[in-house]
Amino acid sequence: MQGRVPTSVGENRKSLRVIDGPDRLLSNFLRISDEKIETPSLSRSNPSTSFRMLNFSTPLCVGEICTESGLLIASKRGHPRVVLDGLFWFLGESSLYCFGMSQYYNPRRGKNMYEPGADSPFKLSRSKVDLFIECPKCFYLDRRLGVGRPPGYPFSLNSAVDTLLKKEFDIHRVDKTAHPLMSEYGVDAIPFEHPDIDKWRENFVGVQYLHEPTNFLLTGAIDDVWVNPKGELMVVDYKATSKNGEVNLDADWQIGYKRQMEFYQWLMRNNGFEVSSVGYFVYANGVTDTEAFDGKLEFEVKVIPYEGDSSWVEPTLEKIKTCLDSDKTPEAGPDCDYCLYRDAVKEVVK
Ligand code: SF4
Repeated sequence: MQGRVPTSVGENRKSLRVIDGPDRLLSNFLRISDEKIETPSLSRSNPSTSFRMLNFSTPLCVGEICTESGLLIASKRGHPRVVLDGLFWFLGESSLYCFGMSQYYNPRRGKNMYEPGADSPFKLSRSKVDLFIECPKCFYLDRRLGVGRPPGYPFSLNSAVDTLLKKEFDIHRVDKTAHPLMSEYGVDAIPFEHPDIDKWRENFVGVQYLHEPTNFLLTGAIDDVWVNPKGELMVVDYKATSKNGEVNLDADWQIGYKRQMEFYQWLMRNNGFEVSSVGYFVYANGVTDTEAFDGKLEFEVKVIPYEGDSSWVEPTLEKIKTCLDSDKTPEAGPDCDYCLYRDAVKEVVK
């Protein structure tokens, strides 16, 4: 299995005492000195990945965080796992495996970095525009200096819902008929048929528009487009969750969803389409009050209209241009504690 601890830590392995069994108390199973070890074998893109091994003094349960090491015991099934420094550690029968996220994460990118004054357009995705709004500093570190955040874990269940909804609406696209959800929610439209629909949906391609004032090539991968009898297009976004009660767009954090819709409306308009300011969220809510799982998860699907206003996009692009052209790293955004955490670590780790 990839990620086996290389022999260079052989001498340390003698000090490994592994407690097997996923849901047992993990106690005292690691007595290893706190040491940094170079392990070139792990990551292809980044030749050196450093490990930090810590010792535990408190018994731990799956799901608990060890305050001392900040370790989260993250799994019950299969081998118990711990997440340490963004690396996945598997507690195997007789050794400690490291299944590094480093193979997905390259902390110092060499490409897709903004160069002030460059002639060629700079590609900027909707999610990066949103990152700028969330925290100009994280955006600048990523797009100008090449240090992006480690990637999150994929929402595979959400992607599954997306894939199946796309198949479902595509049947009606070919038949030029309204999907039952459209009729149920009184949306007088059918799925829009266009040769580029699959390209518009593709991550890293999407709907594209070159914004000449900033020389940014803006991109956004949409889920769907519907068209009403007037020929006006309506942007549609699929969402999936599992919560008690009705799904809606009332939570503060859903401002991100609304900006997403507005950005896609702005992209489609700038591609010459007549686009309604009303878009729709097709929101699938996983039902949990059933007798048993039985190998299937049922969803209640709701269509939520949203009146978008894209007037914030152009001024934001101007601000992004000014930010990227500057050699000064902007201040951190107000809602994230990671920089504070990082600064605190720097203070205590001599
Ligand atoms: S405050 Fe958070 S979002 Fe901003 S730069 Fe720091 S880590 Fe990134």
